[in-house]
Amino acid sequence: MLGGRNSFSKTDPDATFMRTKDDHMQNGQLKPCYNWQFSTNNQFVVNFTVTQTTTDTTTLIDHLKKYEELYGDYPQVATADSGYGSEENYEFLEENKIDSYVKFSYFHKEQSKKFKSNIFHKDNLYYNENEDCYYCPMGQRMNKSGTTVKQTTTGYKQFVTYYKAQNCTSCPLRWGCHKSPNDRIIEVNRNLEKHKQRARENLLSENGVKRRRQRCADVEATFGIIKQNKGFRRFMLRGKPKVEIETGLIAIAHNLSKIRV
Ligand code: SF4
Repeated sequence: MLGGRNSFSKTDPDATFMRTKDDHMQNGQLKPCYNWQFSTNNQFVVNFTVTQTTTDTTTLIDHLKKYEELYGDYPQVATADSGYGSEENYEFLEENKIDSYVKFSYFHKEQSKKFKSNIFHKDNLYYNENEDCYYCPMGQRMNKSGTTVKQTTTGYKQFVTYYKAQNCTSCPLRWGCHKSPNDRIIEVNRNLEKHKQRARENLLSENGVKRRRQRCADVEATFGIIKQNKGFRRFMLRGKPKVEIETGLIAIAHNLSKIRV
């Protein structure tokens, strides 16, 4: 019944307990919910999926596959916020030649002056590609010390490499560098870093800035219209198949209301 979830509701076993923005009791009470995923084009709903996961990350691939089922091909362009920026998603977008503008979790933070001037942050350490090693703020070489394979909840395998400093004892910069009693070790996913670099270039390009602006006025506005303006705050039906039908009806009603004759 759980199907990989951590919770389900007794009144609707398909619904998962999630934290919502509505918190009338002001105690962070969890509520039985479904996770809605919408794709829009100029505020018209072009695709939707109803999922049972509490996070958005693992929903993107199935959402795009449903789009392909509906229209016979993947979209040419996809824009999404940082909740969708995972290695598995980037890989899928690349494999299917989708021009993507998908943020990753640190995208906005890394643009800040504070982040850029933090010489200790892993992302600001110098990487020598030819020799596959990092250099720490003291100029010490950090050699590759091992690799490991991690598996995400979807079974996707991530290859992680460790790089180790050689001697942190009595380093004058240790106060701000790390708290480990041993030499500093950093963990790097090279494939993810490659995807992040591509995403960064896309997002910061002229087109990327335009698409990021458009996303706010497109899909976010659609949710605003449906939830706030039209007052759709809870499903009337129970069970995922019925909730999907209800969502479809809402999407149709929304699209019809957008048509100006
Ligand atoms: S503490 Fe270690 S890793 Fe950090 S700057 Fe000093 S030598 Fe380099």
